Amino acid sequence: IAKPDTGWNFDNSYARLPETFFTKVAPTPGRAPKLIVLNEPLAEALGLNASALRRDEGVATLTGNHIPEGSIPLAQAYAAHQFGHFNMLGDGRAILLGEQITPQGERVDIQLKGPGRTPYSRRGDGRAGLGPMLREYIISEAMVGLGIPTTRSLAVVTTGDTIYRETEQRGAVLTRIAASHIRVGTFQYAAQYGTVEDIQTLADYTIQRHYPEVDASENGSERRYLRFIQEVIKRQAKLITKWQLVGFIHGVMNTDNMAISGETIDYGPCAFMDAYDPATVFSSIDTHGRYAYGNQPPIAVWNLARFAETLLPLLHADEEQAIKLAEGALSEFSKTYQQAWLTGMRAKLGIFHEEQDDLALIEGLLSMMEKHNADYTNTFLALTFNKIEESALFSAPEFAPWQEQWQARLGRQQEDQTASQQLMRSSNPAVIPRNHRVEEALEAAVEHGDNSVMERLLAVLANPFAHSPEQEEYAALPEPSACAYQTFCGT
Ligand code: AMP
Ligand code: MG
Ligand code: MG
Repeated sequence: IAKPDTGWNFDNSYARLPETFFTKVAPTPGRAPKLIVLNEPLAEALGLNASALRRDEGVATLTGNHIPEGSIPLAQAYAAHQFGHFNMLGDGRAILLGEQITPQGERVDIQLKGPGRTPYSRRGDGRAGLGPMLREYIISEAMVGLGIPTTRSLAVVTTGDTIYRETEQRGAVLTRIAASHIRVGTFQYAAQYGTVEDIQTLADYTIQRHYPEVDASENGSERRYLRFIQEVIKRQAKLITKWQLVGFIHGVMNTDNMAISGETIDYGPCAFMDAYDPATVFSSIDTHGRYAYGNQPPIAVWNLARFAETLLPLLHADEEQAIKLAEGALSEFSKTYQQAWLTGMRAKLGIFHEEQDDLALIEGLLSMMEKHNADYTNTFLALTFNKIEESALFSAPEFAPWQEQWQARLGRQQEDQTASQQLMRSSNPAVIPRNHRVEEALEAAVEHGDNSVMERLLAVLANPFAHSPEQEEYAALPEPSACAYQTFCGT
């Protein structure tokens, strides 16, 4: 029987950029590759044959032990502001195999995360642990279910090697799928270490790959790069809005972790907020709360300012004029954000159209939630299903007057109750990847080799707006625990 073709269909447009942007480097082979989890629907969507990926050669590819035909493995160069400090970084533990051209003609990066050292590894070992890679797999796929732009996870394999962190861990490789891995930090790298020509080459490449609408309308025009900045800002504002609406906290919004494509990227210490509190931080290293829930929109603006700075030479021959143009573009973030956030919050409350006092109504609810330690996700569920007695808000004296105001607001719209509830059901997820559920799935998979807990969790998270009876169990909160949940940078 002929061996089925795995379906790799690589192109390597990034490898055709000036050499300063990357270094060709082969992955370090793992000792004993083993497939832990494969995302079959995603494989098929990419034009890959899932059963071929499960066989020896497929698993060898996902480990970095076999380089499929057409792949040109490379590590990308980038810089970044990490917690506000500028550093030269690059893919220290990731290797791009190339761009898969899907049956639909889409171009996506296929990247191995954790396959050994690269020229950008500095003191790191270039490796990743099984727990953190499975965590990225679960949370990125949960984001897909929630309808939030994100990189995706095709597979996790163990390499058979032991890696050394605080404890010994099993080495693993995650295969990450992304529209691209071009980051704010890629532009910072070009601006810091390249020529103006390099910046322009990168900008033109990125426009062509991710912003074809700018390419078509502004070809050859001097407004091209301004439009590019404006569109990047718009996409980021919409992305951050979606994070805020579901309570997602990225945890490490350094400028290398902001993708120009507008996808969520780099799942390290991220987690979902339980009780509503803008100051929520999970990451153990974010001691000053720079990346707290409530800070994500202003931090996005700060990062986008670093992005716009790199393009100043392309905006206008006169620097002062260029700065004015960039500042104008940056000021649009809050408009896009505020509008999208209000629309999203209205939908969470079953409201279809705009009224003057909507912001006050929404803020009234949020401040009650903050004051009474009410769970963010479950409060909206309780409102959706008229089960407010299940929420911490039930006993709050301010709740009844607020509810009256809300009901009056709903009464003033044309749409009936059924339509309103339908809107709420499709805007308020029944499940999010609760920290204790993720931990439980990881423990079973990592400590006991039992993937069934994770697979059930993934199945429930794939369709968070289904509101199936099965999901109720996953809406339950963890036992109140003495110490707050902490996340660690993915190692
Ligand atoms: P991150 O916190 O994942 O955004 O990573 C920040 C930088 O550290 C990136 O340049 C990574 O490639 C690099 N890095 C993280 N872990 C390792 C590791 N184990 N070995 C080498 N480089 C690493
Ligand atoms: Mg990163
Ligand atoms: Mg990372």
